Formats: sequence, structure tokens, C-alpha cells
Amino acid sequence: MSDWERIDALVNEAVTQLGLDPRDADWARNQLLQIEEQGELDNGDAVMGVLALRPSALQDRFCNIEAKQGGMPAQQWFYNYCVASGYVKRAQLDANPRFDSHGLVVTINLAKPEFKNMKKAAAGNAVAGGYPKCTICHENEGFAGRGKRTLRTIPVTLGGEPWFWQFSPYGYFDQHGICVNTEHTPMHVDRDTFGHLLDFVDRFPGYFLGCNAALPRIGGSVLAHDHYQGGGEILPMFKAKTWASLRLDSHPDVAVEILDWPGTAVRVVTRDRDELIEVCDIIRAAWVEYGNAEQGIASHDEQGNRQSALSPSVIRTERGYEMSLIFRNNAISDDYPEGVFHAHPEFWPIKQEPIGLIEAQGLFILPGRLIDQLGQIENALAQGAGLPEDVSEFHLVWDEISAKLAGNRDRDAIKAAVRDELGSVCYRILENTAVFKRKEQTQEFLQALGFVTSV
Ligand SMILES: [Zn+2]
Repeated sequence: MSDWERIDALVNEAVTQLGLDPRDADWARNQLLQIEEQGELDNGDAVMGVLALRPSALQDRFCNIEAKQGGMPAQQWFYNYCVASGYVKRAQLDANPRFDSHGLVVTINLAKPEFKNMKKAAAGNAVAGGYPKCTICHENEGFAGRGKRTLRTIPVTLGGEPWFWQFSPYGYFDQHGICVNTEHTPMHVDRDTFGHLLDFVDRFPGYFLGCNAALPRIGGSVLAHDHYQGGGEILPMFKAKTWASLRLDSHPDVAVEILDWPGTAVRVVTRDRDELIEVCDIIRAAWVEYGNAEQGIASHDEQGNRQSALSPSVIRTERGYEMSLIFRNNAISDDYPEGVFHAHPEFWPIKQEPIGLIEAQGLFILPGRLIDQLGQIENALAQGAGLPEDVSEFHLVWDEISAKLAGNRDRDAIKAAVRDELGSVCYRILENTAVFKRKEQTQEFLQALGFVTSV
């Protein structure tokens, strides 16, 4: 096919697949000819940047669908659009290994780079003095310098402020996206956060939206710019059973459920928005000031920096709103200089990165290097050999899998044992992140605030 034929085919495809107005076909063809002259016709980003709808036209279509059919059909259309334009790498997401184990979902992400260095992870997305200020600023929409020519966003209003929604190119699950403050302002979680999350799920009731702890090491990778994460999957923690249910006399219609979950989390359930915000903020305000020397919990470090944070995440169900509150703490100790309530070193061969909002809710994203490393381990087990030198740091995993297999060298049995082990390690990492190691301690924390156990 000649370049000329290719360009014609691309323009025709854009008319049928990407909503290119036929009146713009000649104009688009001429833009592609220019791209060809620049030798960029094989650069899908450059081609799609021309063929995809302008942000304003795309937003008009979104609003049109939303007005006729509702917020969720509009989001589904927008997601499909981002897949068709190549911005969302759906094929790569589908290629990632994914399985259920120990009540968690474990995925191995082949596309995402691994950030082992916590400081680098926190700083990794800031660009000193650059334009745009960071990787999630709105000014990235269409920005060739960061490969964002096909990025498109949808404006949303949260708490009366302008924010915008965009899908993640290498999402961890179906329709994974971020909701970003239009202003480049630091991450924070306060009373307003709860209202913001509720505004979003009121408009898009099939999505969840949550906020990372606004602290390094236990939070997200972009702390410099306020944003939330959400999308179309019901994460495992939303389905966690209730260990105990409590209430405040002053808010009898709001249930606070301590979750049967390896991390420390409660779920605040009610149909009433204002009541929900009240109760969530009582718990937030108490947690971020809470200290318990015996349990190694200090709300601030020795320099006076805050190190306790709350991570909220909401969905809508037949019970109304369900706001999960995950208790996080960033303390370090001589034994755990990278974080007491962080994945402990014995698990680092599997996962060393910060445990953010998505993982704290039970969907683990493990590094792509594991494919090769676990492959070596599986081969050695099948051959009855010892732990290979290349992967000697996996001794804990090796010992536990070997004990389970008890000499069984069947390939399927080995594969099943490896997956079971990965789930088990992820479960124990969540136990590491638990600030209260026993559910009774969570209950005592709530009782001290006046909550009483309800039948
Ligand atoms: Zn920014």
C-alpha cells in the first residue's frame, strides 16, 4: 500500500471509527500529508492526534450522550473512544496475567515501569520549571512532548470546583482513570474530599472514586497535583465482609462497619450524603491525630511532620453510599527504615513499591520482571533442581512453594502453587500495612469516639 493509499484508508477509518466529520476529511488528509513529510506516518500518536476529535467536539458528544442516556453510557462511549484512538492500550491491559487468590486480585503489569526507590517515585512525575508543570496537569491534553497527542479529558465539577476526568493509558483494570484538579495544587485529604468523591459517583454511579493517602511511600506517585483514582471495577475490599458494625447515637442512620480485611479499614454506609460526610470526617479527624506508643503509631514524626493519613474510596450500591476509609501510617523504625506499615523486606522480591489506594483495596499490580523470575523458579521446580542463583532473593517464596508441592513436579500443580503463593504474599503485605493488627483495636478506636456496637 502506498503512503497515499494509507492516508486515504486512515481518513476513511477516522470517519467511521473516530467520529471525524466528513466535512473535515480533506483537511485531515492534508494534515496527514504533512506528517508523512516529517517522516512520522508510522507514529500512531502523531497520526491519531490529527484524526481524533478536538477536545471541545469530544466533550460536546460526551454531554450529548450523557443528556440522553446518562453518565455511565457517556463514560462507556468515551472509554471506547480512547481505546479506538490508541490512547488507552487495551490490548496490553488484556495481555497482563491476572488471577484471583486469597480473596485478592493479582495482576502482573507488563507495561508499567517499577519504582523501587520511594523518593524517586514521589518525585518521578514532577518536572522542575517545565511545561506542563507535571504529568497530570490539564496542559498535557494534546502535548506531543510527553506522547499525549491523543489525550482527551472531560470536565467535571467537584465541590463547585473545576476538575477533569481522563482514562489511564496503561490502566490496571477496566475503565481505570483519574480525576484531576484543574489547578496544579498538592494532594490533600480533608472534609471536602468526601463531598468531591460523592459528587463524582452521583454523576457516574457505576464507578468508584477514591483518594490516595497524601503522603510519600504509602500514597500515590504524584503528590504534587491533587487527583483521585477510579473506574469501572468493584475492587475486592468493596466486597469484604463486616467484622462488626457500629453507630453513633448522634447519627443513627449511618453504619460504620469494621472490615474483615487484612489492612485496617472501615466502611461508612448510609443513603444520606450530609450524614456520611459528618461521620467520615469525625473518623478522619480522630485518626490523623491518633497516637499509641504501644502499637508504634505516632501521628507525627520527631520533626513534627504528619505521618498518619486516611484514604477514602466510595461506591454506590443498593444500600446507598459505601465510603471505605483505609487507615495509613508512614512511621519508620530501626527495623523498618522504609516504613513499619509498608511491605516488609522479606516480600520485596515480589513487591517493593508503595502500596497505594488500588492495592490497599485488594488489586495488586506486580512488576513485569516476575514473569521471567517466576518462570525460572517454575522450571527449577519441574526439574527437581535447587533455587537458581539468578533468583536467590526468592528464598522465602521458594521454601513455601516447595513445602506446598512436597516433591510434586507436575507443571499445572507448580503453576497453581506459584499463584497461591503470590496471593498469600500480597495478603501478608496488606497485613504489614495494617495499623491495627487486631480488629478489636479498630473497635476500641471507634468506641473511644463514642461509637457503639449495633446488632
Ligand atoms: Zn500538575
